[in-house]
Amino acid sequence: MSELKPGTKIGLNGGGQVEIIKELGRGGQGIVYLVNLDGAQMALKWYLNDPGDKFYKNLERNINAGAPSDAFLWPEYITKRESGSFGYVMKVRPRNYYEFGNYLLAKVTFKSVTAMLAAAMKICDGFMMLHRHGYSYQDLNDGNFFIDPSTGDVLICDNDNVMPQGDKSGIMGKARYMAPEIVAGGIPDKYSDQFSLSVILFMLFYANHPFEGARVVACPCMTESYEKKFYGSEAIFIYDPNNDTNRPVRGIHQNVIRRWMAFPQLLRETFIDQFSEEKLRNPNTRLIEMKWKDIINKVRDEMVVCPHCGDEAFVEIKDSSTRCMNCGKTINTSLRLILGSRELPLTPKTEIFIDTDNIPDGRVAVDTTGTTLIQNVSPDAWVVETASGKIKQVDPQGYMPAKPGLKIKLKIHNEDYNLEITTK
Ligand SMILES: [Zn+2]
Repeated sequence: MSELKPGTKIGLNGGGQVEIIKELGRGGQGIVYLVNLDGAQMALKWYLNDPGDKFYKNLERNINAGAPSDAFLWPEYITKRESGSFGYVMKVRPRNYYEFGNYLLAKVTFKSVTAMLAAAMKICDGFMMLHRHGYSYQDLNDGNFFIDPSTGDVLICDNDNVMPQGDKSGIMGKARYMAPEIVAGGIPDKYSDQFSLSVILFMLFYANHPFEGARVVACPCMTESYEKKFYGSEAIFIYDPNNDTNRPVRGIHQNVIRRWMAFPQLLRETFIDQFSEEKLRNPNTRLIEMKWKDIINKVRDEMVVCPHCGDEAFVEIKDSSTRCMNCGKTINTSLRLILGSRELPLTPKTEIFIDTDNIPDGRVAVDTTGTTLIQNVSPDAWVVETASGKIKQVDPQGYMPAKPGLKIKLKIHNEDYNLEITTK
């Protein structure tokens, strides 16, 4: 047991030191302190008990490799082994980021569906980058994510259990988030991370757990053996089309009951598939993060601003008009921007997200004559080709008419995109 008092100085491996200012919080594993590092305020996670050589070496390696993406509050320095233990230094989490668990309890709510979708995209992107760097997270759960409710920006914390694929940190993950094969005693890897990712995304969208329905409610007392059944060997998705024994219960699972049909069909189909018996049993058939990003793009494409009430509304891409789920009026979605297999309805005031960085690239507007326009809100000029082959340039902040037949070429983060306007 090793606690540190304000004023204590701890040496960093590789030189320099941090000085303890005050405690910020504590958990089972350790205490997080606010520290001073050369005049900058940083956070130090200090382990109550030294977790051992292997853990130390792994942390050191992760620090040297650097963060996989800016979604991670990544360890930046490791301390020397002093006072019977050690710790690592990271940036201080900004105040406007709230723990995901608070969203599930409705203590914090997203300012918009746009922010919710941005959070989903950022989580998928973070895990894609993590796995690309050869790591597995191992301990994905609702306590690791901190989200800004207004922008949907995400910070993934507790990265000290991140290990190279195939290595075992000794951390089994948190029940409810573990893949069935891990509940049964397997070693966490990228496939079990992918399962946990689907659970996190489900909870982000529907604010209930995908396996907690009537069967779990009927359970008299959640013992370890029941937990192994409900989240492992006998896990049943609450909307499994082939098994209705674990449906959400009215009065208990209100969030998912209210949102399940209100959110796009594509999301429903994807979760039904990811939580099907086949995918639960065959880890390597689960959706990779890249595909999840494609799906979230398409879901975002189906979110428009209702021209009548101004609220965000989901529309069905297969139809040319949809009734607004808020005001009940008809939203005309026949004007479309085509990008590969994606179709983006061009409804006034709707933001256009082309890539996956959560920054809008275009915005739909209307001029005084009622003509629909697209504004280029990206930092680079677009090249527009008319049906007769004329080339025009749309500068940043400039507008173009949303006329069927027009083709747009643009570049985002050095990636080329070819779009075309059409009607359905
Ligand atoms: Zn409306």
